[in-house]
Amino acid sequence: MNKTKRPAVIAGNWKMNKNRAEAATLITELLPLVKDAGCEVVLCTPYTDLETSLALTEGTGVKIGAENCHWAESGAFTGEISAEMLRELGVQYVIIGHSERRQYFGETDETVAKRLRAALNAGLKGILCVGETLEQREAGITEEVIAIQVKKALAGVTAEELRRVILAYEPVWAIGTGRTATEEQAGEVNGFIRGLLARLYGEAVAERTTIQYGGSMNAKNAAGLLAQPDIDGGLIGGASLKAPDFAAIVAAAGR
Ligand code: PEP
Repeated sequence: MNKTKRPAVIAGNWKMNKNRAEAATLITELLPLVKDAGCEVVLCTPYTDLETSLALTEGTGVKIGAENCHWAESGAFTGEISAEMLRELGVQYVIIGHSERRQYFGETDETVAKRLRAALNAGLKGILCVGETLEQREAGITEEVIAIQVKKALAGVTAEELRRVILAYEPVWAIGTGRTATEEQAGEVNGFIRGLLARLYGEAVAERTTIQYGGSMNAKNAAGLLAQPDIDGGLIGGASLKAPDFAAIVAAAGR
């Protein structure tokens, strides 16, 4: 496996944290710490922080993402935001299918696929989250679960469009729990995902696709996880809310 064929991407997922003033403080503290980043840096923020984040990161290498988007272009979907609305703001990335959305907001493999389709149609880059629950891991069906999630989300996504998709393996039991997958567990599932992509799209496409790990990645465990041959970056929740911690993860991903 040749890691240089694909970009390393460290993305923060702020979840429902930081008002505008707090967002500005965090970004202002972070920017000097990541100015020489050897990887792509993305901050996925609440909708209400997007404009502030875009303004503060303009002209820097840091990219801004949203945490979700709706599948319709417009219409009677109270409380939702379309992919096109995000693109028009200047947002480049969007997280799709995060486990918290699957768990608390009824997100299914079908709605994940529709949201990813909308993101790609709008010209955005999607960070597609997949991952098994603890119950599924203990039942020995991790690979089956991941395969179904990946195949359903990517049904109809062309090899060309896959250039704008990052996959994020996020075991549900490791998100926000402080319980990280071991380097071997994470590396193994990321390798499985790459093998699946090779079967779906061919070796060359699989090799050029960025596959992140997410789940309690922090300043201490990042280097070990990122050293795994199939882990090309991270989707970072809790640790993305503190500039020095997030910057340390960015530094660990530098190639
Ligand atoms: C996430 O929200 O995608 C995540 C991985 O969270 P945490 O890093 O807090 O586990």
